[in-house]
Amino acid sequence: MTFRDTITSLAGQAEDRALDLYARWEAGELDDEQFEALLAALVARYNSRAATVADLALAAAVTVALRRAVAPLGIVTPPGDPQRLRTATRTLREALEDTPDPQARVARLARAEPLDTAARSYSEGIARSRHVEGWVRGLSANACELCTWWARGGRIWPKTHRMPTHKGCTCTPIPTVSEVPIKPDQTTRRKR
Ligand SMILES: [Zn+2]
Repeated sequence: MTFRDTITSLAGQAEDRALDLYARWEAGELDDEQFEALLAALVARYNSRAATVADLALAAAVTVALRRAVAPLGIVTPPGDPQRLRTATRTLREALEDTPDPQARVARLARAEPLDTAARSYSEGIARSRHVEGWVRGLSANACELCTWWARGGRIWPKTHRMPTHKGCTCTPIPTVSEVPIKPDQTTRRKR
């Protein structure tokens, strides 16, 4: 499974579970407050998993490129993420009554959040990794015109330039690595 497959499947799971919560709220099993809180917690959990998957996927890509094990960087979601989501789910719940297709809006939030988090985390890892020099845009199979234009025919971008994405975008940056020369380990050498 590629990084893209994994995050797409995570986003799909988040969407399904958010729709379950929506159904329970609509059936009156959950009140407004419970629905908002449970949805925010659900999305926060998937965001956190998305950040970890991005961190591991980048470490794996660099490991393969360098042919030696590279550790993940310990990338996590921002500390304010649960609070931000709590506000977002309240705004969403308040808007649902006037929305023609409320289910689609719930699904969109639950899907877009982990996808955005994965993209942001992966870009953060690229910027932070000492092995990575830059990246090229890995277009998804169904890439839109904007993403194709953003790719600029496979141009290599500097690592500090964050890959632009749009809502629901599943393009992923492909890191380009430079080998850092490894100095001989002094501790294993005995002086004569
Ligand atoms: Zn696109």
